[in-house]
Amino acid sequence: MPNFHDFFDDKPRDKCGVMALYGHPRAAELTYLGLFALQHRGQESAGIVSSDGQKLIPVRGMGLLADVFRDQSQFKVLEGSWAIGHVRYSTTGSSSLTNVQPLVVNTKDGVLAVGHNGNITNEKALRRKLESEGAIFQTTSDSELFVHLIARSKAPTISERLAEAAKQLEGAFSVVLITADGIVVARDPHGFRPLAMGRKGDAYVFASETCAFDLIGATYERDVMAGEILTVTSRGCESLRYAESELSMCVFELIYFARPDSHIYGTSVDKVRRKLGKILAEEHPVDADIVISIPDSSNTSALGFSHRSGVKYEIGLIRNHYIGRTFINPSQFMRSYNSRIKYNAVRGVLEGRRVVVVDDSIVRGTTLKKIVASIWGAGASEVHVRIASPPVRWPCFYGMDYPTRRELIAAFATPKEIESYLGVNSLRYLSLEGVLEATRDTPSNYCTACFSGNYPVKLTDPAQIAELADPDKEWARAELEKVLRTME
Ligand code: SF4
Repeated sequence: MPNFHDFFDDKPRDKCGVMALYGHPRAAELTYLGLFALQHRGQESAGIVSSDGQKLIPVRGMGLLADVFRDQSQFKVLEGSWAIGHVRYSTTGSSSLTNVQPLVVNTKDGVLAVGHNGNITNEKALRRKLESEGAIFQTTSDSELFVHLIARSKAPTISERLAEAAKQLEGAFSVVLITADGIVVARDPHGFRPLAMGRKGDAYVFASETCAFDLIGATYERDVMAGEILTVTSRGCESLRYAESELSMCVFELIYFARPDSHIYGTSVDKVRRKLGKILAEEHPVDADIVISIPDSSNTSALGFSHRSGVKYEIGLIRNHYIGRTFINPSQFMRSYNSRIKYNAVRGVLEGRRVVVVDDSIVRGTTLKKIVASIWGAGASEVHVRIASPPVRWPCFYGMDYPTRRELIAAFATPKEIESYLGVNSLRYLSLEGVLEATRDTPSNYCTACFSGNYPVKLTDPAQIAELADPDKEWARAELEKVLRTME
C-alpha cells in the first residue's frame, strides 16, 4: 500500500543530491550548508565524509540533514579541508542504514568514499559478473558498483581507475569521490543528472544544483562536462575526458525537480519554467478569471501562464510545509483528513471564479483529483487544468523515481478520460515541442523518455524491458481507485 508520502508527493522523486568541496578549513560545515539547499533531492538519509589527508571521517544517518547532524560537536569530528556529502532518496536499493551514502570502503589503494546521483541501468548484469568473480556486496545500492570496479582497476591514478569503472557503467551518474589525497567528480557521457563546478575563494566546490553555491557564497564556474572526470588535489584541478559526450540531459529536472533558483545545464531553471508556462498559455488558452499554481513546484510556470495570457495570478492554495516523515502510514482515522493536510483552498480567492490551475506534471493524478475537489469545495465556478509538460506515459530508469507504468495514469487513460477522472471543465497538456522550445537557448539535447518512450540508453535488463508493456487498463483503474479510497 502506498504510504502517506505517496499520496501527497504524487510526483517523481530524484535519487539524490551530491556536494564536494576541496581547499577550505571548514569544508565539512560548508558541505553541510550546501546539502541543506539540496535537501529537496532526497530526504531519506544524509551523510558527509571529510578527510584530513590521513584518513576519511564519516558522519551518516537516516532522515533529514537536521536529523543526522544534531549538534556542533559532529563538525569537530569532521576534520580536514576537503569533504563530500550526499542526501538520498532511494530508487534502487532499500532505504536502510547500510545504503546510506557516501559509502566508505577500504581498497588495496586506500580508503575511499563515494556519493552517487542517478541510476545504473546495467546494474544487475554487472553485479552478477562481479559476484561470480568473488566480489561481496555490502549494500543493495547500485552505487556500490563504483567501489568494486574502482577497486579492481589496475590503473595508476584514482581518476584513471574511475574512468575504467565509468566505461563499464550504463545509465546515469553524477558522482563524487573522496580519498586521502583529494576529491574526484564525474558525470556520465549522457549528462543525465546535473553537476556544477564553482569556486569559493581558492576552494573548489561541486554540487548537483547551484542553489548550494548561493547558500555558501560560492561562484558558479561551469558544469562538469558529460563524460568528464575532474580531480582536485594539492596539485590543482585536473580534467580527464574519458568518453565523448552524447548529451541526453533529463528535461524533467527543468520541469519539476531542480529548484527554480538553480542554474543547471547552462540555463536558469526559473527562466525555462516561465517559458513553459508562456508556451502552455499560447497552446491552450482559456477564458478564466484567475490562474493559480499548486505550490511550490508549479509557481513559476503559473506565473509564465498568467503573464502570457493576461489572466491574473492569485494564490488560491496554501501548502503546509511542515508535513514530516512522522505522517508515514497514518491511522485510518487520520487518513480521513489526508486531503486537507498538505493543501488548503482559499475560499476568498476561489469563490465564484473561473479558475485555471497550472501544475507541472501529472503522475498518478490522485493528489490533483483531491486538490481539484477542494477548489470546487471553495466555490469555484469553473476549474480548468493546464499541465506544463506532456503526459507522463513511460517509466524512468535514469534516477527519477516514477511509479510503474500501471500507476502512471496517462499510460492507461486518454487526456479526455483523465479530464473526466479529475472532474474538471478542461484539461490540456503542453506539447513535447513546447517543452523543447522552452529549452531552446541551451545548446543541449535532452532525454524525454518518460514522455516519448525514446530511451537514450538501450535497456538490456529484462525486468526493465518488461516494465514497458502496456498496462491492463481495467486492472490499473481498479488499483487507482484503491489508492483513492485509502485517501478518503
Ligand atoms: S525518463 Fe524522464 S525523468 Fe527520466 S531522465 Fe529521461 S526525462 Fe528525466
